[in-house]
Amino acid sequence: MTTQYISRCVHCGTGYTYQASGHGAPEYNHGDYCPGCWKAVCDALATIPEAVEVIWVPTAEYTAQQLKTIADTNWEKQNAEAKAAAEKNGQFYLPCRRVYAPLFDLNDPDNINHTGETSIAGITYKWSFWTKRGDATVSTKMERDVATGVLQPWRNCRHGR
Ligand SMILES: [Zn+2]
Repeated sequence: MTTQYISRCVHCGTGYTYQASGHGAPEYNHGDYCPGCWKAVCDALATIPEAVEVIWVPTAEYTAQQLKTIADTNWEKQNAEAKAAAEKNGQFYLPCRRVYAPLFDLNDPDNINHTGETSIAGITYKWSFWTKRGDATVSTKMERDVATGVLQPWRNCRHGR
């Protein structure tokens, strides 16, 4: 299903059709800018190199199983708090949790892949392991200053990757 609506460009004030969802959106489709202004923004940004890149660095700070347990515990706590707050206010509560698509072992369906991501004290970790294979990967999200090469833990901000 395609969702479109008429929007007014926040820069030039032109009314235009914005395609909010669905297949076949125009090339310069943006909810705030008309196609002409959005193209100008994209062209201008294309000349500015990125200053920071994301790098996932392997780490041994935690095992994959430890991170899964921490993530599950944190979610259960947050879920219980959100549910209690909603019920206190007489609101409907729908639990939502970010999930990661696991891999599947077609030869052994009992061999289950667990994959996830969690933050501990502002540091983001991701993990993946198989219940029967014993192999696991754990890495931490870092940001690398492109000019200096300096690595530091990724800081979550309102916008970004
Ligand atoms: Zn415009």
